[in-house]
Amino acid sequence: MESPVTAFTQISDFLEYLSDDFTANEAVAGTLAGLDRNPKFPFLCSRHYADLIKKASEPAALLHEILPTTEELASVPGFVDDPVGDLPAGKAESIIQKYDRRALIVSTATCGARCRFCFRKNYPFQNNPDVARQVSDWLDTHNDIWEVILSGGDPLTLGPGAFRDLAEAIAMHGSVTTLRIHTRLPVMRPDVAMQHFELLRELPARFDCVLVSHVDHPDELDEESQAVFGQLKYCGWTLLNQSVLLKGVNNNADTLEKLSRRLFEQGVLPYYLHQLDHANGVAHFEVNDDEARRLIAEIRTRLPGYLVPKLVREIAGEKSKTPV
Ligand SMILES: *Cc1c(COP(=O)(O)O)cnc(C)c1O
Ligand code: SF4
Repeated sequence: MESPVTAFTQISDFLEYLSDDFTANEAVAGTLAGLDRNPKFPFLCSRHYADLIKKASEPAALLHEILPTTEELASVPGFVDDPVGDLPAGKAESIIQKYDRRALIVSTATCGARCRFCFRKNYPFQNNPDVARQVSDWLDTHNDIWEVILSGGDPLTLGPGAFRDLAEAIAMHGSVTTLRIHTRLPVMRPDVAMQHFELLRELPARFDCVLVSHVDHPDELDEESQAVFGQLKYCGWTLLNQSVLLKGVNNNADTLEKLSRRLFEQGVLPYYLHQLDHANGVAHFEVNDDEARRLIAEIRTRLPGYLVPKLVREIAGEKSKTPV
């Protein structure tokens, strides 16, 4: 019988679910040896992601994305609480604008899991029940905005009512032609993503719709993510993916090649490969720029151009992402 648990907040329950056989696996032992059972940025992993780990060809890679280790406690110069300059770019509560005529909404603090390398792991999220009205008020006085990005946290974790209110508040503003959603739910909680299907199906009649998923490893993609992407594509969404280049997760050409190809099989084009944002506690994921460029050069020889993501870094205060 299927377990009714949809997410693990206790590391011990999570490890028990993975089973003794699994945790005895030599490949995962390294991560387990460094476990931090009481992290500042609390552990959270969906059952779906735990199931992906169980059937992964490289379980240690996925585990490394989600399990806190004592390496996060290291204080490393240059790794800070607001690495990408979100706070100085705040325009109103929940609204960040860095780029000309395009705005990003921090629509919720909630995600389907807590990725250990998260760039907003130290972000001072406000509990904000009134985000739709705030966005609407702000857009009233900013009628040059043509693209609105729903980010977070994960916007697809909003309840159906709150998500609809937000979409409708944006739709009232004629200047906004493009609605973009940044989400990791197709691989973290495909079931929750599908709860929004009715609204997601309606939106392309009103906006040019872009969904940018966040997938870092080919083992994160399965038939459930395929179902989510397939339905969105059928409804007219443009599907792109961004990944973060992560030591011990995807810093080899075989993994990156497989990721691009599997994304494409599921109807998604690779968009960005991000160099790690320097948030406090993530330094152990860093891949240096030389290695990053070598990896991109290698996969460029293996893949068609449309499957090679752009290698970029976000630099606080710049007017766009910066090519590496
Ligand atoms: C990254 C980001 C965007 C999107 O940038 P693209 O290069 O268009 O993908 C928009 N707004 C903010 C605040 C961002 O950080
Ligand atoms: S899904 Fe994105 S915002 Fe949420 S914890 Fe992971 S990296 Fe951070």
